[in-house]
Amino acid sequence: EAKTLRQRVALRYNSSMSEKLNMRSAYVAELKNALKNNEFVLYYQPQYDFDHQIIGAEALLRWNNPKRIQESPEIYIPIAEDSELILAIGDWVLHESCRQLKILQEAGLPESFKKLSVNVSAKQLGQENFFDNICRAIKTSGVNAGQMTIEITENILISRIHDAMNLIAQLGDIGVDCAIDDFGTGYSSLTYLRRLPSSLIKIDRNFVRDIHKDEENRSIAKMIIALGENLDMDILAEGVESAEELQCLKDLGCTQYQGFYFSHPLPFDQFSVLAKSRYLEAC
Ligand code: C2E
Ligand code: MG
Ligand code: MG
Ligand code: MG
Repeated sequence: EAKTLRQRVALRYNSSMSEKLNMRSAYVAELKNALKNNEFVLYYQPQYDFDHQIIGAEALLRWNNPKRIQESPEIYIPIAEDSELILAIGDWVLHESCRQLKILQEAGLPESFKKLSVNVSAKQLGQENFFDNICRAIKTSGVNAGQMTIEITENILISRIHDAMNLIAQLGDIGVDCAIDDFGTGYSSLTYLRRLPSSLIKIDRNFVRDIHKDEENRSIAKMIIALGENLDMDILAEGVESAEELQCLKDLGCTQYQGFYFSHPLPFDQFSVLAKSRYLEAC
C-alpha cells in the first residue's frame, strides 16, 4: 500500500539518520583499533622567529594507515571527542611527544629551539587528573617541563574557562607554557585574556590567508598583535604560506611564524634532520 508523502519522508530521514549513526560507530571502532594497533603517529611542524631561526615545533596527530594518512585530525578528533576515546588518544599524544622530544634533545637541538607544543582537547581539559597526566608524561620521558607548551584553542578555553584557568596556573608553576590556539575565531573577552597567564597567542590561519591583499584580515591581525603587546604575550602566525604573507606579518610586528612556506608537518625522522639546523636553508 502506498505510503503518504510524510511517511515516506520520515522513513528516508530515519534510515539516513541511522546510516549516519552506523557509519559513525564503525568509525569509532576503527579509531579504537588504530590506537590499539599503534597506528597513530605524530608529525612535527617547525616554528620560526623573525630571523628564521627554529624556535620550536607543534606535534600534530596523524593516522598512519594508507587509507587515513591524508585525513586531517579535524575529522576524527571531534568524533573521538564524542566518546571517551579522546582521553586515551590524548594521553598517547602527551607521552609520545615527550618521548620524541627527549630523543631530539639527545641528538642535539639548536639552542634557539625552545618549545614543543602539544594540542589538547576539551574533554582532556575537563579531566580531573589532567594535570597529573601531563606531569607523568614529562617525568616518564625525562624532558624538562620548561620545554613544553600546551595549546588550547580559544573556543575550548572560553567554554571551559574555569578548568582552563586552574590548569594554566598549575602548568605555570612547573614551567609549562600555554598557547591560545586559533585565536580570533572565538569570543574571548578582554577581561579573561588579561587574567590568563598564557604566554602565546596563535593567530588563526584564516586571518593570515592573503593578509597582504586582504584588508580585513590585516586589520584583525593588527588588532591581535597590539593586544599581545599590551598583555605581554608573544604572537605567532599560523598557516603562513607565502613570502608576501610573511613580509606583511613582519611589517605588522608579528615575530613568530609557522606554515607551509617554512615547512609542512613532517614525520619524526624527517623533522629530526630539519630540526638540527638552526636556520632554515630554504629562506
Ligand atoms: P591546529 O592546532 O590549529 O594545527 C594547525 C593545522 O594547520 C594543522 O592541521 C596543520 O597541518 C595546518 N597547517 C599548518 N600550516 C599550514 C599552512 O600553511 N596552510 C594550511 N592550509 N594549513 C596549515 P592538522 O594537522 O590537519 O590539524 C588540524 C587540527 O586538529 C589542529 O589544528 C588541532 O586543533 C587538531 N589536532 C591535531 N593534532 C592534535 C592532537 O594531538 N590532539 C588534539 N586534541 N587535537 C589535535
Ligand atoms: Mg595547535
Ligand atoms: Mg591553530
Ligand atoms: Mg585548528
